[in-house]
Amino acid sequence: MSENKKAEKIVGVKGMNDILPADAPLWELFENTVYTVLKSYGFQQIRTPIVEPTALFSRGLGEVTDIVEKEMYSFVDSMNGDNLTLRPENTASVVRAALEHNLTYDGPKRLWYAGPMFRHERPQRGRYRQFHQVGAEAIGFTGPDIDAELIMMCQRLWDDLGLENIRLELNSIGDAEERNKHRVDLIAYFEQHKSLLDADAQRRLHANPLRILDTKNPAMQEMVNAAPQLINYLGEESRAHFEGVQKILRHNNIPFTINPRLVRGMDYYNRTVFEWVTDQLGSQGTVCGGGRYDPLIEMFGGKPTPACGFAMGVERLLELMKASGEQFAPNQCDIYLVHQGEAAQLQSFVLAERLRNAGLDVVLHCASANAGGSFKAQMKRADGSGAAFAVIIGEDEVAQATATVKNLRSTDGASVQVTIPFDTVSDYIVDQITGDDDHGHDHTHCTHH
Ligand code: ATP
Ligand code: MG
Repeated sequence: MSENKKAEKIVGVKGMNDILPADAPLWELFENTVYTVLKSYGFQQIRTPIVEPTALFSRGLGEVTDIVEKEMYSFVDSMNGDNLTLRPENTASVVRAALEHNLTYDGPKRLWYAGPMFRHERPQRGRYRQFHQVGAEAIGFTGPDIDAELIMMCQRLWDDLGLENIRLELNSIGDAEERNKHRVDLIAYFEQHKSLLDADAQRRLHANPLRILDTKNPAMQEMVNAAPQLINYLGEESRAHFEGVQKILRHNNIPFTINPRLVRGMDYYNRTVFEWVTDQLGSQGTVCGGGRYDPLIEMFGGKPTPACGFAMGVERLLELMKASGEQFAPNQCDIYLVHQGEAAQLQSFVLAERLRNAGLDVVLHCASANAGGSFKAQMKRADGSGAAFAVIIGEDEVAQATATVKNLRSTDGASVQVTIPFDTVSDYIVDQITGDDDHGHDHTHCTHH
């Protein structure tokens, strides 16, 4: 680096995004809303590692799935030779953890998670290699009631986030026996139309024919639409379960359409499957997918335990929030602290701590590389910070044990500035903020209006 050759810049991994401060208020609003809504349904958070044994996913999701076939970030731990994978989704991990810690020993559990997932896909709008999901897993529940509750929880979340154009698609994919019967007819049907199958479909024909149903290939739509529908193969119990879900949704005025072609990507699903879809995001329109996965826990060596869950794509939902036109103001502080001279700097540290004790957000001017510490430069920083007040401590203020408070947002044009005893500054500003402010300034954290 000491040579005159300039060091080459390292850039981030393709398809993995930095989330910059300008977007932080949007993420915070989303996360706080999620947290509040899920808590109001009695869901408890679980945090599992980002890295898991590869077998967890290859066994859990099924070998013939997009994820396991081509999207996993798998690697060998060079220290001990273990086969590891960056989690592409979190249901398998949550179930592993629930089993490992015997979480359902005293009854069913409502769990939720949030965090990054990793899939080696072609990066494009709404499709990234690191992306974020929020999901819920209700483990140990048998009936259609929990399926409906999960769906209604999503609806409440969309409402609270102000998202209007998300519609619910619902289907039932029955149990293994029902799917097997359907599968025989489905394969026979596709064999009859073999010339229309694309390479992907050809490959899946015998391994996972159900997945051909959700092909996006326009040339196959008509043929696939006329394929045997799984819903007509449901037995008594599956049908009753599906009816049960719909009954609760109808009673609560949750609109939905039944999409007989809706299947989910992973092998572990059965019975209820659903997706929340929007037309506002181009071809990546699914913002949330979920369903029942009664067989999974047994597949992982646990005793039979029914379960149901969903996962939503955070980036896609944030894009919808942005499109809704609402403004997400940048995080701003209440006070910018300006000081001149060494004694004033020491005092400003004391004052900043006192102001923070009073619940205010304070930015203390610190030396920086690209701006001088002149009074003028500091005031410019104060203006740019979005703070409501600048508090100034100069030599005079130190000598007289005072501080000068300048209102940076005075509406009457005149710059309102007062010099008051040092010990009264914090009370004075709290009064100013709470006294003349009827839109409820929140001191404990920055607001998003
Ligand atoms: P798709 O059919 O779009 O590939 P999927 O079936 O692979 O979706 P799920 O595994 O069900 O998706 O994940 C749940 C949600 O996570 C999706 O509905 C989507 O909103 C989001 N999601 C999935 N993959 C990505 C990705 N690569 N980038 C951003 N969001 C994603
Ligand atoms: Mg996918």
